[in-house]
Amino acid sequence: MNCIWGYTWHGYYFYHSWLFWLILSAGLSAATLFYLFFQKRRQKKCPNCSTPVESAFLQCPECGHGLQTHCPDCYRIVDRLWKTCPYCEKSLHFKI
Ligand SMILES: [Zn+2]
Ligand SMILES: [Zn+2]
Repeated sequence: MNCIWGYTWHGYYFYHSWLFWLILSAGLSAATLFYLFFQKRRQKKCPNCSTPVESAFLQCPECGHGLQTHCPDCYRIVDRLWKTCPYCEKSLHFKI
């Protein structure tokens, strides 16, 4: 008698039944929905007008609020709230 799950008659029957695919597709769509919801929650927003902004934006397209800027020394994108540039250690003093 073969006792390994999947090779037994029950496992084989379950794999080929509509219930298996129903559970599988329901699980997949639930995972997709959860992923989309999580992505939405994680999206960056403008602190001034709450417009969704992308992490690469330098300023809000809606109200023009400065989100981030370039380091004057190494020209990498830095946050306006940062005191020093993490890339080249230059002190930053931006007007918010
Ligand atoms: Zn804004
Ligand atoms: Zn820098």
